[in-house]
Amino acid sequence: MVPEAGAISVSRDIQEQWSRVRAMLRAEFGDTAFRTWLKPLDLGGLEQDKVVITVPTTFIRDWIVAHYADRIRSLWTSVNPQIRSIALAVRPARPRPVPAADGTGAEPRPAPAQPEVVHAPDPFEELGASLDPRFTFETFVVGKPNEFAVAAAERVAMSDEPPFNPLFLHGGVGLGKTHLMHAIAWRIRARRPERRVVYLSAEKFMYQFVRALRQKDVVSFKELFRSVDVLMVDDVQFICGKESTQEEFFHTFNALVDRGRQIVISADRSPTDLSGLEERIRSRLGWGLVADIYPTTYELRLGILQSKAERLGVHVPTAVLEFLASHITSNVRELEGALNRVVHHTRLFGTPMTVELCRDILRDLLRAHERRVTIDEIQRAVVAHYGLRLADMSSSRRARAVARPRQVAMYLCKQLTTRSLPEIGKKFGGRDHTTVMHAVRQIERLREEDPQIRQDLETLIRRLRG
Ligand code: ADP
Ligand code: MG
Repeated sequence: MVPEAGAISVSRDIQEQWSRVRAMLRAEFGDTAFRTWLKPLDLGGLEQDKVVITVPTTFIRDWIVAHYADRIRSLWTSVNPQIRSIALAVRPARPRPVPAADGTGAEPRPAPAQPEVVHAPDPFEELGASLDPRFTFETFVVGKPNEFAVAAAERVAMSDEPPFNPLFLHGGVGLGKTHLMHAIAWRIRARRPERRVVYLSAEKFMYQFVRALRQKDVVSFKELFRSVDVLMVDDVQFICGKESTQEEFFHTFNALVDRGRQIVISADRSPTDLSGLEERIRSRLGWGLVADIYPTTYELRLGILQSKAERLGVHVPTAVLEFLASHITSNVRELEGALNRVVHHTRLFGTPMTVELCRDILRDLLRAHERRVTIDEIQRAVVAHYGLRLADMSSSRRARAVARPRQVAMYLCKQLTTRSLPEIGKKFGGRDHTTVMHAVRQIERLREEDPQIRQDLETLIRRLRG
C-alpha cells in the first residue's frame, strides 16, 4: 500500500496482522466474495485499541459493516487480543492527476475531504451492560456468609473450561451478587481478552429479545447470543412469569451449555424457589453449582466498613464502625450508604465522628431497622438460640427447658415490637394476655438476678435489632 498524504502511519506489526487477517478472510469466505468485497479494503491505521480500515465507497462500507465487520474484528482479536474494535472509513476520492505545467507538480491539490468514519460497534458490547470498575475481587470482602460463593466465582473466572455450569448465585438484595458477577467478568477480560464475556440483566435480555421480535430479526439475536463464550445474566427472577422470554432464554442457555460455554446466573432466591419459571427450566438452572450468599454477619459488616473507610481515605473511630455494623444489618448497600452519609457530614461540617452523631444523622435508617422486628422473627431467633423447634413456642409443654425460652420470646416481643399483650399471646398458641404479662415480669426479674439470662437477652436483642 502506498502511503497517501494524510494517511495514518501504520506500524509493521499491525501490517502483518492485517495480512494474516486478510488471509483468514479469504480462506473463510472464498475467492469470489474476497475479490468483490474484501480486497478493496485497506488498512488505515490504529487508534489505541481500534483498527481503522478504509474502503473505496459508502456502499462497500455499509455492506462490510452489515456482513463482515464483526468477523474482521474477532479474527483480529484472535491475532492480537489488544484490538477491541474496528472502524470503517471511506477513502477520499483520489484527486484526478493534474498535469504539471512546469513539470514540478507543485499545483496545489484540493485538501482531501474528511473521511466519514463509521464505527462498527462491537456487537457484544451492545449486547451486554457495562461493568462497574469498582466491582472487582480485590474490593470484595470475604467472610463466612459469602466465602463459598466467592470461591465458586473465582473458580469460574480462573478456568478455561466451565468447572460447573451454570454457576447460580443467589442471595437477598444488596449482598454482592452483581459485584461478584462483575468481578468474574473483569478477571476473565484481564486473563483472556479474546473470550467474549457478556454480562447483562435478565431485564435487558428480555428487552433485546422483544426488540428482535419486533424487528423480525430473531435469527441475529440467536446467533449473537449463541456465539458468546461467557454469558452472565443477573436477576433472572425478572423473567419469572414471562413465558416467551423464558423460552428463548432456555434455548440460549442450552445451546451455550452444549457448546461448553460458561453461564453464570444470579437471582434473589434459589432455583427451586423461582416460582413462575417453568419446571424444566428451574431444574436445569440447578444442575451446576448453586451458591448461596447469606445475610451478613457482624464480623463481615465490620470488615466491609473497615475496607470502605480505607478506600475513602478517612479515619473512622472503632466505636463508630462497631455502631454501624451492629445497627445497619439489612444489607451491604445500606451499610455503605450509612457510612457515606456519616463521612460526608463530618467532612462538610467538620464535626467529630461519634456514635451520637451517627444516631442523629441516621435516625430515619435506624428507626426503620428497629421497626422491622416481628414476632415471627423473635420466635425464630429464640428457638435457634436455645435449640428448640418453632412448634415449642405455641405448644403447651411446661418443662422449664421449653417454658423459659418461651417466656424470653414473649418478653422480647413486648420490648421490641409495638404489639399488645393479647396480640402477643395469640401468636404463642393462643395464650391469655395475663400469661404474657406474667412472662414479662418473670424475665424482668431474672434479668437482674441471672447472668445467663441477661447474656441470652443481650445476644438475642443484638441479633434481632442489629
Ligand atoms: P446485589 O446484586 O446482591 O443486590 P450488589 O452486588 O449490588 O448486591 O452489592 C451492593 C453493594 O454492596 C455494592 O456497592 C457492592 O460493592 C457492596 N458489597 C456487597 N457485598 C460486599 C462485600 N462482601 N465486600 C465489599 N462490598 C460489598
Ligand atoms: Mg444486583
